[in-house]
Amino acid sequence: MEHFSKKSKFRLPRIEIAIFEVLNLLHMICTDPHRYDSDFDVLPESQANSEGRHKCAGCAYDQGYSDGLARVEPNFDAEDLPYSQAGVVRHKSPHAAYNMGYADGMRQLARP
Ligand SMILES: [Zn+2]
Repeated sequence: MEHFSKKSKFRLPRIEIAIFEVLNLLHMICTDPHRYDSDFDVLPESQANSEGRHKCAGCAYDQGYSDGLARVEPNFDAEDLPYSQAGVVRHKSPHAAYNMGYADGMRQLARP
């Protein structure tokens, strides 16, 4: 009975840990500090897989920012983004983050 009490109830399910371990090996998990950036607090939550669920909204922002700065057509692609395992950005909408980054990139360009 004793060994049960050592288990944390906040632990991820074993299958989810296994999946993250594989993705980590493939370098598909974001380890950038922007995961903890509170600027992303304003973004809406996202749970839709088509919207890039669990993809890193911080990386989506960077993608949008460089596209906005380069003045290329907005071209959000969740497939290209690494996963996010932790932080503020984990459940944020990557699509919304891309748009925010794109707008910031355009604004940066407009500065004298
Ligand atoms: Zn990231």
